[in-house]
Amino acid sequence: MEINTKAVHVGDRRKPGAFVPVTTPIYTAATYLYENVETLDKVFAHEVEGYAYARYDNPNNSGLEEICTALENGHGSLACASGMAALQLALTAALIDRRKHILAASALYGATTNLLMNVLAPFGVETTFVDITDLAAVAEAIQENKPGCILMESISNPLLRVGDIAKIAALAHANGAALIVDNTFASPMIVCPLDLGAHIVVHSLTKYLSGHGDTMGGVIITDAAHLPVIRSLSRTYGPILGPFDSYLCFRGIKTFPLRMERQCNNAIAVARFLEQHACVERVHFPDQTDHPDKQTIAQQFAPGLFGGIVTFLVKDAAKQDVMNFMDRLKLIVCGTSLGDVHSLMLYPLIASHRDLSPKQRQRQGIHDNLVRLSVGIESAKDICADLDQALR
Ligand SMILES: *Cc1c(COP(=O)(O)O)cnc(C)c1O
Repeated sequence: MEINTKAVHVGDRRKPGAFVPVTTPIYTAATYLYENVETLDKVFAHEVEGYAYARYDNPNNSGLEEICTALENGHGSLACASGMAALQLALTAALIDRRKHILAASALYGATTNLLMNVLAPFGVETTFVDITDLAAVAEAIQENKPGCILMESISNPLLRVGDIAKIAALAHANGAALIVDNTFASPMIVCPLDLGAHIVVHSLTKYLSGHGDTMGGVIITDAAHLPVIRSLSRTYGPILGPFDSYLCFRGIKTFPLRMERQCNNAIAVARFLEQHACVERVHFPDQTDHPDKQTIAQQFAPGLFGGIVTFLVKDAAKQDVMNFMDRLKLIVCGTSLGDVHSLMLYPLIASHRDLSPKQRQRQGIHDNLVRLSVGIESAKDICADLDQALR
């Protein structure tokens, strides 16, 4: 089945009895009952399919997990209350029987860096940061630190750098480390990291997969080896996504391939428009012929798709000029998040990279005039017109 077909059909219309509702209803029950206690006993023992307690699983979760597994070509999934909950559980599962050391990409989602430094570090889990696009540096850091886990994102935020998942997965396998890829930015329309040898994929469902800015969620999609530990940890510490949010994420995913394709095509148009604009100093976009990771992108990405994010530098703009520019936008929404149906602009200086010192930001190439645009499904012409009237 192709991704468009999977997105619409997998996980839905599970049979509750003689009738089949055309979509899965929201099951709010905390507990499930059976004809006799013997059946309940078998459900607890996983001998009979069913649900016992909503912290373990429920029909809304199961449908959502089934579709996420299908989209990422995984063995199984776990839907969590947020992308961050999914990341924490994935890291814990990967390290449970491995050396408590993480080799992480230096350009990570802000909260992920905080998770490593402020949550895991106090429990004795060390992290070493490395430029994930520099394979020699990655290999050297593995030899030096013997990490139990490698953590990277499929497209980095906000400079849109791309590491070679297949080569990093090979290094991980050779050294007994688990590779976790946060595939929120690229999505399974562009790359399926498990196909390239990654052990675990994580998504913020909040972004492209649910896509409407109306729910939070996260998901872990895993290979066979890590599924039992992920499920058993989840049963114990309970980060599971609730039935209402599972329903919304599941509903959103049905149009995810359509939206993503449109967003990718719109982003190409917006990147071309900005590249020739007199008020724009520089554009970062993965299809550019001078992109530093051009070769990896050509091998790794689905043909013609480069993601829906365009990052650019407003010419000669100080902080106040950038804020004025954003205030002049009429169509594009200014806030945090990405991947929604509406175009959304984020200013890293005041949002995702706020907690870094000016020096750290400068070192990472996050200049004061850099903004990140998540391109929506509107008409590209209208998005460009809005940018044009605001850039002056
Ligand atoms: C948003 C995001 C997260 C965190 O997801 P939440 O659903 O906000 O918890 C993690 N990684 C990336 C790349 C993200 O964009």
